[in-house]
Amino acid sequence: MIKTIRPRARKVRILATLGPASSSPEMIAALFEAGADAFRVNMSHGDQQSKIAVIQSIRALEKTYQRPTTILADLQGPKLRVGKFEGGKIELIKGQTFTLDRDTTPGDTTRVELPHREIFEAIEPGARLLLDDGKLVLRVTDHTDTTIVTEVVVGGALSNSKGLNVPDVVLPMAALTEKDRSDLAFAVDQGVDWIALSFVQRPEDLAEARKLIGGKASLLAKIEKPQAIQRLEEIVEMCDGVMVARGDLGVEMPPESVPPLQKRIIEVSRRLGRPVVVATQMLESMITSPSPTRAEVSDVATAIYDGADAIMLSAESAAGAWPTESVAMMNAIGEAVEKDPTHGDRIHFTVIRSDPTTADALAEAAKNIAQTIDAAAIICFTASGSTARRVARERPGVPLMILTPNPETARRAGLLWGAYAILTKDVDSFEEMVAKAKRMALRHALAKAGDRIILIAGVPFKTPGSTNVLHVVRVSGDELKGYAS
Ligand code: PGA
Ligand code: MN
Repeated sequence: MIKTIRPRARKVRILATLGPASSSPEMIAALFEAGADAFRVNMSHGDQQSKIAVIQSIRALEKTYQRPTTILADLQGPKLRVGKFEGGKIELIKGQTFTLDRDTTPGDTTRVELPHREIFEAIEPGARLLLDDGKLVLRVTDHTDTTIVTEVVVGGALSNSKGLNVPDVVLPMAALTEKDRSDLAFAVDQGVDWIALSFVQRPEDLAEARKLIGGKASLLAKIEKPQAIQRLEEIVEMCDGVMVARGDLGVEMPPESVPPLQKRIIEVSRRLGRPVVVATQMLESMITSPSPTRAEVSDVATAIYDGADAIMLSAESAAGAWPTESVAMMNAIGEAVEKDPTHGDRIHFTVIRSDPTTADALAEAAKNIAQTIDAAAIICFTASGSTARRVARERPGVPLMILTPNPETARRAGLLWGAYAILTKDVDSFEEMVAKAKRMALRHALAKAGDRIILIAGVPFKTPGSTNVLHVVRVSGDELKGYAS
């Protein structure tokens, strides 16, 4: 049965992480109806086999709702963990000495295994080791090829396999572990649209992932290491999308540095025309409560005012008690912020410097014309989606409809600010293009009789990179006559 879903007036996209609380076909559909524009499949949890049904359930929405779906597979990356303890858990006391070594026997209050050889080579005296999301802090006093001796700066309980962050040195670790390579191949094979790389340190990390992806998915860089901040522009240029991964970023760097970094990462991403997602703890209290704190609502609103393309739910939708409510809350915040008359000015605070290309010039002009003549929508004919990205980064005040014959392009657009993608047959002539644009705008309720729409396309048709046409046309309202669907 085909169900309809109202075209979303909201421009900021919602990326919902799926997990135990939201993996059934019914829950996935419920999140989609509540406002999820894209879904994150987190390869850090569960095995590959369990992801197959989830991915199929997401794609099944395309038949039911006649809308493209967007899937992001998030690779765990070189997430560091300590070994295990005799009895599962120890207590570290401030001032004591604690050693990490290469010995696989269970640890005690004096030592534990650290199963990552690379750290022993790269570590330096004075460097900090942060354990369990930064709750415990150790400072390195001495090290050899097989031991790292530390002094406990902040103590507390430490249990088996807790996470470890090493913010002070660049680790000579491959950005892709064996597990990541296997997960990447799996994700590509499953036809996901985006692949996210965790703990990116260098632009080369992305080059390697891109080679393995082989053009079969877009590549998103998670910014969660100080080393990535140092080379932010180069990294953003090397990827197709960016995530402000505030969870690990706020462990590796002081939490108070996260808000200014969020603004900077969004600014650089927008300037370079890469969609940017703000992630982690956005509605954290909704993991256990049906309503968020005012501070969380304000945080989500801030990301939208900053001009982020997308906002993300993590455990709120993956493992919490209120997944649909969390999506609905984000949707409501998005609608409220975008109704605020100051929203347009606030997001245009970021100055976009257009490239000296025809496509960029037309994208910028389309935004300006839309405002001047109060047009109803910008309709973008695109094969690769690159023109649509250029228009989206201008943050036009009207809906952006993407018409494309490529399912991959329609799906990948799910992280793009204000984009409403429709899969449709290619056009062969200028007249056909105009007729189709009018029809689609009417059918999807983006324009009504008497409205003007702005078309952006490339002639000759079917030639990638040929964007050269900007056309303004008025919809009469009769265009659907003779077309059944
Ligand atoms: P994660 O990434 O949820 O995979 O850790 C996001 C973050 O660190 O904020
Ligand atoms: Mn992370």
